[in-house]
Amino acid sequence: MEVIPGVHQITAKMANMILIVEDRLTLIDTGFRGSSWQIARYIRCLGRSMEELELIIITHNHSDHVGSLAELKRTAPAKVAAGMADLSGNEQGLPYRRYLLKLLHLPLVSFLWPLDYARPGEVDIPLAGDEVLPPIGGLRVIATPGHTPGSISLYSAERKLLIVGDALNKRFGELRLPPKSIAINLSQAIDSVKRLAQLDFDTLCFGHGQPLVGDAAARLRVWIEKRGL
Ligand SMILES: [Zn+2]
Repeated sequence: MEVIPGVHQITAKMANMILIVEDRLTLIDTGFRGSSWQIARYIRCLGRSMEELELIIITHNHSDHVGSLAELKRTAPAKVAAGMADLSGNEQGLPYRRYLLKLLHLPLVSFLWPLDYARPGEVDIPLAGDEVLPPIGGLRVIATPGHTPGSISLYSAERKLLIVGDALNKRFGELRLPPKSIAINLSQAIDSVKRLAQLDFDTLCFGHGQPLVGDAAARLRVWIEKRGL
């Protein structure tokens, strides 16, 4: 689905990926393992090719956002950018609550939701926040820790577009904070959302749920106020 001209949302297994279509292609997040064929098919339907995928940006190092990274890297020449605070390099340091990490190792769970994560060696551009990446004339990286330590959001002032990964999500038409049980630090997550609400944007894209289109910043501010955050 095209959210605004040149910015598409692809959804696979309830996880969203954002594809920015310009001279070159940029993908934000990669979905669960096994989603690469859907991404490739979407790109083909636009009359473009995986060879044109130049950059993959990861909003945070959770399986439903990095699961297809290894598959994509086999078929696309893309560089990978991700928040460095999520890149511990070992499973014990992954940005999951400890009980979730244990749960993800149970046989049936690990079969249904395989634990995939980006390792430091797979990331070409480690991000700390405040970098400006090339897509859409300058896509600003905003550090939005809380859901994970290295979560980032991406902002285009020119297109009034904000992409938040799991800093926020939308379920049943309602804005929501990341679930307490998954967020590494909920008060930090709330601070991050409040900082995002100070930006000027019309369109808000999430890692899960349909985008919020039209007056999104104002609607986010109303939501924050209503929730008393
Ligand atoms: Zn997540």
